[in-house]
Amino acid sequence: MKLLYTHPNSIVVAQARSSVELAGIACTIRNEYAAGAIGELAPIDTWPELWVVHEADYESARLAIERAHAEIQEADWQCGRCTRFSPDTFDLCWNCGRERPTK
Ligand SMILES: [Zn+2]
Repeated sequence: MKLLYTHPNSIVVAQARSSVELAGIACTIRNEYAAGAIGELAPIDTWPELWVVHEADYESARLAIERAHAEIQEADWQCGRCTRFSPDTFDLCWNCGRERPTK
C-alpha cells in the first residue's frame, strides 16, 4: 500500500479513485468518512486519502490522476489570498474561507 493522493473534499478523492480504477489499478480510500459535513473543514490529518494497493502501480496511478486533473482543473478557481484551488462547486476557499472572486 502506498499513499497516492489526498484532498479535503471527499468528492475529489472519489473522482481520483474512479480515474485510477478506470486505468485498471487497484486502490482504496482511507478516512473516507472522517471529514465533517460540507462546509466544515477537516484538519489535514483527516483528509480522505487514496492509497494504491500495489506499490508497483504507483507511477501509472499518479499519471492517471494527473490526466484526470488536467481535465478538471479548468473548473477549479484560485483563491486570491492563499492561492489554493477550490472546486467549482465551492463558493468559499476551502483553505482560508475567502469568498470566490467574481469573474
Ligand atoms: Zn484561500
